[in-house]
Amino acid sequence: PPRGRHLRLSLHRRLKDQKDLLGGKGANLAEMTRLGLPVPPPGFTITTDACRYCMHHGENPAELADQVDEALADVEKELGRRFGDSEEPLLVSVRSGAKMSMPGMMETVLNVGLNDETVRALAEKSGSERFAQDSYRRLLQMFGRTVQDIDAEKLEHVMDTAKKDKGVASDVELDAEDLAKVVERMKAIILDETGEPFPQDPREQLRQSIRAVFDSWNAPRAIIYRNAERIDHDMGTAVNVCSMVFGNLDDRSATRVCFTRDPSTGHPGVYGDFLVNAQGEDVVAGIRNTRSLPELEEVLPECYAELTDIMNRLEEHYKDLCDIEFTIESGKLWMLQTRVGKRTAAAAFRIATTLLDEGTIDEQEALRRVDGEQLTRLMFPRFDDAGEKDLITRGMNASPGAAVGKVAFDTPTVVSWAREGTPSILVRRETNPDDLQGMLSAAGVLTSRGGKTSHAAVVARGLGRTCVCGVEALEVDEKAKEIRMGGEVIAREGDMISIDGSTGEVFRGEVPVVPSEVAQYLTGEVDPEKDEVSDLVHSVHRLMRIADSTRRLKVRANADTPGDAERAVKMGAEGIGLVRTEHMFLGDRRVLVENLVLAANAKQRKKALKALMEPQRDDFIGIMEAMGDLPMTIRLLDPPLHEFLPDITELSVKVARAEESGEDSDSRDRMVLGAVRRLHEQNPMLGLRGVRLGLTIPGLFGTQTRAILEAVLEVRKRGGDPKVEIMIPLVSSIRELWEIKAEIEGVIKDVCEESGESIDAPIGTMIELPRAALRADEIAEDADFFSFGTNDLTQTTWGFSRDDVEGGFFFTYKDRGILTHSPFETLDQYGVGELVRIGAERGRRTKPDLKLGVCGEHGGDPDSIHFFHWVGLDYVSCSPFRVPVARLEAGRAKL
Ligand code: PEP
Ligand code: MG
Repeated sequence: PPRGRHLRLSLHRRLKDQKDLLGGKGANLAEMTRLGLPVPPPGFTITTDACRYCMHHGENPAELADQVDEALADVEKELGRRFGDSEEPLLVSVRSGAKMSMPGMMETVLNVGLNDETVRALAEKSGSERFAQDSYRRLLQMFGRTVQDIDAEKLEHVMDTAKKDKGVASDVELDAEDLAKVVERMKAIILDETGEPFPQDPREQLRQSIRAVFDSWNAPRAIIYRNAERIDHDMGTAVNVCSMVFGNLDDRSATRVCFTRDPSTGHPGVYGDFLVNAQGEDVVAGIRNTRSLPELEEVLPECYAELTDIMNRLEEHYKDLCDIEFTIESGKLWMLQTRVGKRTAAAAFRIATTLLDEGTIDEQEALRRVDGEQLTRLMFPRFDDAGEKDLITRGMNASPGAAVGKVAFDTPTVVSWAREGTPSILVRRETNPDDLQGMLSAAGVLTSRGGKTSHAAVVARGLGRTCVCGVEALEVDEKAKEIRMGGEVIAREGDMISIDGSTGEVFRGEVPVVPSEVAQYLTGEVDPEKDEVSDLVHSVHRLMRIADSTRRLKVRANADTPGDAERAVKMGAEGIGLVRTEHMFLGDRRVLVENLVLAANAKQRKKALKALMEPQRDDFIGIMEAMGDLPMTIRLLDPPLHEFLPDITELSVKVARAEESGEDSDSRDRMVLGAVRRLHEQNPMLGLRGVRLGLTIPGLFGTQTRAILEAVLEVRKRGGDPKVEIMIPLVSSIRELWEIKAEIEGVIKDVCEESGESIDAPIGTMIELPRAALRADEIAEDADFFSFGTNDLTQTTWGFSRDDVEGGFFFTYKDRGILTHSPFETLDQYGVGELVRIGAERGRRTKPDLKLGVCGEHGGDPDSIHFFHWVGLDYVSCSPFRVPVARLEAGRAKL
């Protein structure tokens, strides 16, 4: 970036939509200041530009130090306090704040500016020695852990020992003298661990804290989180430096978070919790259990009234559920942060329609507020009310869903079981940010401590993981690997349990699950216009209708059987975008293809082809009947031949054994082995498949065409009117198309003449090889339509084998942040997408009304759908269960 753009300072005067530069926290602080809300006295935001500079160059931008000094001087002037001053010391918090919220994944250092001298001044000014010492030990603890990388347990141990020595249970029972000793011990640990004393120079503390926040952008847990949430690794974090307000000053001080609506149900209300005489980090991971927000009315009534008033104003302003962090310092309320709150999938749908009903937002905005990912979550099953359940106890319903799995107490166990396909429930006293990978890999999360806004709850909701938290009746012994209740062991590692994130219930064993009501609605089993359904189903129905009336993209399904086709239509598919005919030759029918390969002469080949045609025709009839007059694209045989032939090693061993034992080996086995050897390829996916197969085995594609057309005639006889499109796979040259098209057209002509009927069967091609995309203008001359096969297009553009890559080096690529997600799941818009764009543009240059679709897996992926809309395709085609997601996202793409 040009000089001077590395760093932009803001005295909270910028607006909420500058999140790219200021991060979410910085932008919203600016917005709250503009609204005149009580945001702590001045501070400034160091932009994400500076973080990006630091990541690329390994050092802070040269002008950072001066600009921080300048901004700090402004803050000092405004407050009349000075950083490091021995009488009027200024203390600041240094907080991360990326564009996308990444709760608990990055670092924060509070009380920066305290040292042996300023701590005395703080004691004098606040009138509390205890408060000053407590603030100092917090700085040492956070600085040691975050900036100096000292094992957090070592520092926490100092506090534990102090409490044990004194025979008390909670931090608040330690007095000033105890805490002063804690401070000395922590300083000694820092000296011991780093070889240097704790920096007494406040500016040095600030410099190092800022750097630590930048660095925490690339902490392993932050990378894992971004991979899971598909957040770009290059964005970087902003750093918010704010003057401190203290929730731990006295008993009229408090801190915590609140929501303007219930984030799990979306119902309006006062929702949140608080802790008296505490600082923010006490609550992360539930070190102290919180009290529910309505109780604040009794403790600090004026603050409660002001807070609820602000909550209303914020919701009115953001027109959405807000999540707020506040601190009360000696009876004065301060807003530390607000953002549009994370919510469960169900809450997202309910909130969107509630706000729509209230007239707060319009239909388009309501559609913007939900997404396909959330819809997918709502389609998961829930526990069967009628099923047998052995209830152990109940906790808080932190993140909905029904999860069943084996009890695991640590992340490595969860991850290793997940690799074997064993579902688990991660059971912890409380989770911390390092448990992220475990939370991602587990079916559900159960904690015994912490409220609905604890780390476990917030992260699980964000990830869509089922979570029950704060089950205080349970004693989780992570060392002994057992869960006890009232002293009795109720589950050990490996035992099955079931947790219900919607009710907070914990059950022994495996509770049966039933389909979700939303899934029943989306599969057409219940009809909200006729049947009695929940308000959630009404919300989903309403938003689906808005999406359908908004979208331009049509949505088709990939289906190979009548059952799939029927399901697809029920889920709203407007046609079939891909029938993979090779799926009709798996199982018992495999031998039909084997016979074709073994055919030694024209007569045998003809016989083999005929045998192949009949079962296909019957399958086509079934699918056509299910589709009525909706279009269906049938693709001619695609996969490499070896998929239909026995494994070369196994067959060689079989034949060799037979020969060795002197038996006469099966002559068919020997023949097949000969063919397998002849056809063996090192890279079958790049070999004899698709159109190449059609050209190598004359009559194959012609026979398939005949099966399609005869099915059309049969269905017409039964009163139907099927619309078929014939598609040729793996084309890269117009010449391939010419040859195969001639064969297909010959068969169409023959069948029409034989039957005396006319059949309109457009012939199109897949665009799934880079050359086809590049030569699309030429190919369009002879193709009636294109369908982009983004699976093969991704494979051949990246040179990643689609069959091997997911379990292989992708782990390394994700760990190292080279890829945030698989390009086989979400289209790589810059590379593969560019080929789609070129293919579409060149194809339409030749034929302006050329029909364009996509039938690779990406057709059901939200981000990819937005791209396909943008590039001007006519439809996406995906698996039947993704059809509703595609409908919703196609609607959102148009907004
Ligand atoms: C594709 O390659 O994207 C495609 C749809 O075909 P298949 O997955 O069958 O290779
Ligand atoms: Mg393909």
